[in-house]
Amino acid sequence: MNILLFGPPGAGKGTQSALLVEKNGMKHISTGDLFREAIKNKTPLGIEAKGFIDQGKLVPDSVTINMVKEALKSTGGKPFILDGFPRNVSQAQALKTLLVELNLKLDKALFLEVPKDDLIGRLSGRRVCRDCGAVYHISAKPLKDGKTCDSCGGQDVYQRNDDKAESIATRLQVYEDSTRPLKEYYKGQEILTEIVGTGDESDVYARVKIAMNS
Ligand code: ADP
Ligand code: ADP
Ligand code: ZN
Repeated sequence: MNILLFGPPGAGKGTQSALLVEKNGMKHISTGDLFREAIKNKTPLGIEAKGFIDQGKLVPDSVTINMVKEALKSTGGKPFILDGFPRNVSQAQALKTLLVELNLKLDKALFLEVPKDDLIGRLSGRRVCRDCGAVYHISAKPLKDGKTCDSCGGQDVYQRNDDKAESIATRLQVYEDSTRPLKEYYKGQEILTEIVGTGDESDVYARVKIAMNS
């Protein structure tokens, strides 16, 4: 089953995707992770994307869509999770075309809803491992030893530039203007399920599994 996980920044898309990868062997396609990897490696794509990302704005559609096309071609036939793409209706339309071209099908679009006050707390407390991308939170999911990554032992667990107060406000606004309308779009495609994203991550995961199996 191929799914799309969408919702506001900080809703827990990456966290739930990591659980789906671990427990179900799915392939995680996160445009945010792909951009951060490109930035780390200083590729032309990374250099182009960095300015938009640090300000909390969307990277232009043409760049993003090409990147997703390559990712969809290299799933090795595994069921995939799209996380962070599409982020507006024109990307959703481009995805539809791309899936036809690659002979793939999106089975479900799962929308994670979390109230705005919780989102701000989640985003401002988020920390990420530079080496493996594992996601932590200063209070909800702290590092076991307080400084090294639990997953890979990496020493550089950092706060993303766009998780600082100024960018968070822009991102929440971009979400309201551009991404929230996808709910109506996927309702129209008859593959939308809404999931309550509050509670601890295992509670949310249980709801994700129910939605996938129904
Ligand atoms: P997204 O990919 O949607 O932006 P993340 O999965 O990166 O969201 O989660 C954002 C932050 O919230 C992270 O610091 C993560 O550890 C934390 N988080 C994720 N799920 C929950 C949850 N159910 N309860 C509390 N904090 C959570
Ligand atoms: P979050 O889930 O916290 O919003 P992501 O890691 O998904 O963060 O994305 C980080 C940033 O990368 C976005 O704020 C945006 O600048 C860029 N980005 C990610 N996905 C897309 C996309 N589909 N279209 C345009 N920009 C994107
Ligand atoms: Zn790590």
